[in-house]
Amino acid sequence: MHKPALKFSTRAIHAGLNSDAFGSPHIPLYDTTTFKYATMEQMERVIDGRDSGYFYTRYGSNPGIVNVEYKLASLEQAGGALAFASGMAAISATLIAHGERGIVCMGELYGGSWELMTAQLGSLGRRVAFIDAGDMEGLRRYLQQGYGLVYFETPSNPLLQIIDIAAVADIAHAYGALLAVDSTFGTPVNQQTLTLGADIVIHSATKYLGGHSDLTGGVVAANADLLPAINAWRKNLGQCMAPETAHLLARSLATLELRVHRQNASAARIAAFLQGHAAVERLYYPGLPAHGGHEIAKKQMSGFGGMLSVALKAHVDAAAFFDRLQLFSLAVSLGGIESLVCQPCRTSHRGLSPALKAKKGITDQLIRVSIGLEDAEDLEQDLAQALA
Ligand code: PLP
Repeated sequence: MHKPALKFSTRAIHAGLNSDAFGSPHIPLYDTTTFKYATMEQMERVIDGRDSGYFYTRYGSNPGIVNVEYKLASLEQAGGALAFASGMAAISATLIAHGERGIVCMGELYGGSWELMTAQLGSLGRRVAFIDAGDMEGLRRYLQQGYGLVYFETPSNPLLQIIDIAAVADIAHAYGALLAVDSTFGTPVNQQTLTLGADIVIHSATKYLGGHSDLTGGVVAANADLLPAINAWRKNLGQCMAPETAHLLARSLATLELRVHRQNASAARIAAFLQGHAAVERLYYPGLPAHGGHEIAKKQMSGFGGMLSVALKAHVDAAAFFDRLQLFSLAVSLGGIESLVCQPCRTSHRGLSPALKAKKGITDQLIRVSIGLEDAEDLEQDLAQALA
């Protein structure tokens, strides 16, 4: 059931399977690996797709998984969606499935995606070229050489770089290439990636979509014709989301818009507090007019998100800052109800060489901040006392 005419939060609640056999208003957890049939004829009809029904959970054929996929497709205004065991599962299946002609990767990336592209995809015959975020000439050069898939994050992890989705999509399409965007930081609330022109949108559902730091999952949403190739890898690499996770995720999606709106507002307040603070060397937040991607962010996002990164001045002891924080927890991941801080150079980007970290600005003084759902004034006071 896909109802694009309805508004976002209505679809988050009502898109999906209609109801279960006993009238539950939401789809209950079908904690089963398999489904039984009365006759061989009936089983054949389900396998061939002549009858609706379910077959085997690893294939994604389970009511709870199908239900959450309908919701995700509806929220991204996509022809379909696939639910994965993690964000990295979603990214790897997509890059393997559609990266055969070569992948052009723009801008900076989550460290795990970087490691996949630099250390592993080559062994599967997928070449990857890296270019800077705004390098449209470099993009054209690689596309002329036949590269078939463009990939980037916007906003990016951890420096909140913004890339113009519509502009890159136009260039990619002119060369017959596809554009896949990791919109984990963007969320479908703030950024409608497919409507802007991308062919494939990817999320780590572990972050905002799950939103409670209690599930690990991933999503790919795209036009229906792009999904079978990705689904084949999901099936045979065994990357499907578990029914328990799909159940939690469906529940979380119902509050996604509320949570993200609150996180947008709180992050804007915290950014205003940090901007110009005596301990702050530089603030990375796309809602600031001084941010290099602000104009593009204004054009393609309806909110600037709940993430920001801050480079502390050289004299500030980052370790002491972490130790003094009381509400913000020192932890990896992001997008949950609780506010988190981490040092990307020691966590998500640990695998990068010192030279590359320095080049990208991922220094010891860089702190990534994920704003949760606590009261924004309390969060501001916690940062104030830790920076004092
Ligand atoms: N994409 C981005 C932007 C991320 O920040 C992360 C994880 O931090 C991932 C993908 C990977 O997601 P997961 O940990 O769910 O595999």
